[in-house]
Amino acid sequence: MGCPTVLLAAALLTLLAPGTGAPISRKASRNKLLLVSFDGFRWDYDQDVDTPNLDAMALDGVKARYMTPAFVTMTSPCHFTLVTGRYIENHGVVHNMFYNTTSKVKLPYHATLGIRTWWDNGSLPIWITAQKQGLRTGSFFYPGGNVTYQDTAVTLSEKEGVLHNYADEKAWRTNIDTVMRWFTEEGLDLVTLYFGEPDSTGHKYGPESQQRRDMVMQVDRTVGYLRDRIRSSGLEGSLNLVITSDHGMATVNKKAPDLVEFHKFPNFTFKDIAFELLDYGPSGMLVPKEGLLEKVYTALKGAHPRLHVYTKESFPASLRYANNPRITPLLMFSDPGYVIHGRLNVQFNNGEHGYHNEVMDMKTIFRAAGPSFKRGLEVEPFESVHVYELLCRLLGIVPEPNDGSLGVLLPTLRDPSPGPPSPRPPTPPSGSALLPRGWSPLVMGLSVATVLLAKVA
Ligand SMILES: [Zn+2]
Repeated sequence: MGCPTVLLAAALLTLLAPGTGAPISRKASRNKLLLVSFDGFRWDYDQDVDTPNLDAMALDGVKARYMTPAFVTMTSPCHFTLVTGRYIENHGVVHNMFYNTTSKVKLPYHATLGIRTWWDNGSLPIWITAQKQGLRTGSFFYPGGNVTYQDTAVTLSEKEGVLHNYADEKAWRTNIDTVMRWFTEEGLDLVTLYFGEPDSTGHKYGPESQQRRDMVMQVDRTVGYLRDRIRSSGLEGSLNLVITSDHGMATVNKKAPDLVEFHKFPNFTFKDIAFELLDYGPSGMLVPKEGLLEKVYTALKGAHPRLHVYTKESFPASLRYANNPRITPLLMFSDPGYVIHGRLNVQFNNGEHGYHNEVMDMKTIFRAAGPSFKRGLEVEPFESVHVYELLCRLLGIVPEPNDGSLGVLLPTLRDPSPGPPSPRPPTPPSGSALLPRGWSPLVMGLSVATVLLAKVA
């Protein structure tokens, strides 16, 4: 390498070095972002319980009347839509359970959290996108945050144990303390934090139970604790907080005279089925044996007025669910209040989700507060697929291709001008008094490079 080339390289390095280039000054001015999900928090859970902390957050920030989740209204699929901005048919995490219709393997929710191939199937979640753009991220129990994507892991992640107690309020506070440390000591820019309640209590006791109301009060106390810790950690002016959820909860009518029971359907036999995914709330998937699709479909489509059975091709396109290779040739869902029983009745929950996302009981919450958000604003309902674009905007990163639109949530921001946030004016380096006024370091660097290029030439 000749001397002028070395000088040119040095000039270019200087251009990109800390203190002189735009990327670093943007990093210095970037707000942090905490995305919190309280699983199964139905949109109206704050209406029959006192929730002073959620109410205070609404006054300090933005509240949606409700948010419409993606279909199927299940935990992993809906959480992955929040962090990819894609409908479920486009991100491929189509169920809480890993399944393989050929090997017949089916794994439960917790095991599926650790199956990389179930998650890493073409869509890049926001953690990885942010990291590729120079940020540091963390995931605390958030579904999908514990596997690698395109060989990249989330900077810091915590995964719950198989026997995790999702309801322990003390542990929730410890987890919040950890996340605060991640921001203040580990320098993370984005953290996703997941709580398994009030979903578990809603399933067990039903959404109209006192136990569920008590759990919503626990969630509210936790929101108060979280906002106190944000203040005491000195993050109030630099951290945006988004609190949302994956889906709602509906009461199961366990004593209905017309339960949906496959084992009682005339003209249907499990002998015709090669693979089944039933007994999972209101949704089901079937692979008929070769040549029997039409026969099984005919036997099922009018079998029960509360059950809606479709071929993959005839499934409502508006739900943006069936157009994925993982979806089986037959799929179905039941009406609110009903679950789909297969060979035996083995479902005993008093509350369920998984229903059509236009069912009001499936709607969920969206709240946000922080330096980037307007105060005291209530917005009309929107689809959860739009949250991702907002998150990317808050972090100042370029989003992956997705199904959302930034325009939907842009009006929630104090500075709703389109495009990435403009960086703060860079601090002039020492000696810059010699530079002409108004010359940015970037322009200066380019000028130096141009002069050196002239010398090389
Ligand atoms: Zn859930």
